[in-house]
Amino acid sequence: MDTSLIDKAAEILLKARHTVALTGAGISTESGVPDFRSPGGIWERYDPTIFFYDRFIAQPDFVWRQLLDMHRSGGLTIWSAEPNRGHDALAWMEAVGILKAIITQNIDNLHQKAGSEHVIEFHGNMLYVRCLDCACLYRYDEILDEIARHLPPRCDCGGVLKPDIIFFGEAIPPAALHESVEEADCCDVMLVIGTSAQIEPAASLPLIAKGMGSMMFHFMHIGKPDKRCHVIEINREPTPLTHEVSDFLIQGSAGEALQMIMERIQDLQGKAP
Ligand SMILES: [Zn+2]
Repeated sequence: MDTSLIDKAAEILLKARHTVALTGAGISTESGVPDFRSPGGIWERYDPTIFFYDRFIAQPDFVWRQLLDMHRSGGLTIWSAEPNRGHDALAWMEAVGILKAIITQNIDNLHQKAGSEHVIEFHGNMLYVRCLDCACLYRYDEILDEIARHLPPRCDCGGVLKPDIIFFGEAIPPAALHESVEEADCCDVMLVIGTSAQIEPAASLPLIAKGMGSMMFHFMHIGKPDKRCHVIEINREPTPLTHEVSDFLIQGSAGEALQMIMERIQDLQGKAP
């Protein structure tokens, strides 16, 4: 870990007016949550078509049975995962007023579990299920009895309940999209953590932060092109943003880097733990 970059990040964060974090699978790997796309990930063990929206609509009972099988066999460790030092450091940064929002591609609920309050979720949250008819939200564990009785589980209104995560072929929630673009537009520091940010809409957010605009959001308000914003990457490997969009890359474990940045900020504030 390059400690001079840790120091630099801490100094930038202390001077920032509005910092947002964009997080991906890399922040949760230390919590044992598998990266769906990596070797050994979920897609190598399960048929990805069970997460196609059209398939769910056509065969909700079949998809639910597969999900339950994943759950029971421990194939999804999301439900039992605990936040790690990276999630904790971001929750601390929000609590002391440094971080204003987290935009996450993760569905594991670990930012909320760590105590973060302003979390914008692109892909939903595995902890919840939603009624396809009335959009009523339930906690997954509240409907376990219902699931045991019959599949697919149903809402009080009779509608089919679907895991509240974005399936393939399903649109990103418009409110989350809109809010994340606003955050990217107004921030003066963006931390890009554990994501290669190659998939839209996440891919556009660092560009919007930098005032470089984005093809995807050409119809939306974009900040001034001369906007001064720091984009700091924390990732195990360089990404397409590195050297092109981001100011610098802190290469290594997200958990370790965020903990070191937090401790450096605490040193600078004269409040060492
Ligand atoms: Zn309903």
